[in-house]
Amino acid sequence: MLDDDQTHIEVNQEIVKATGCGTAIAACCAARVYTEEPDGSLSVEYAACLECGTCLAVAAPGALKWHYPRGGFGIQFREG
Ligand code: SF4
Repeated sequence: MLDDDQTHIEVNQEIVKATGCGTAIAACCAARVYTEEPDGSLSVEYAACLECGTCLAVAAPGALKWHYPRGGFGIQFREG
């Protein structure tokens, strides 16, 4: 379980740098959570995350790992 002050987004910087997917990850995020650093790594301001999942869709396999918020927190989507 994560405390509220712990990031729910874990970046594998080696994969990000090796694949160059940091550019797409940073560009896709409407909340500007990611900043691509000059060395190709990503810095993360996780508190701004809207939990839309877009970054997971564009990231290279293994580049991002998510720890979903504990029950009752975060954005919830419901059908109907
Ligand atoms: S889930 Fe959405 S808002 Fe959160 S970091 Fe990824 S792209 Fe940005």
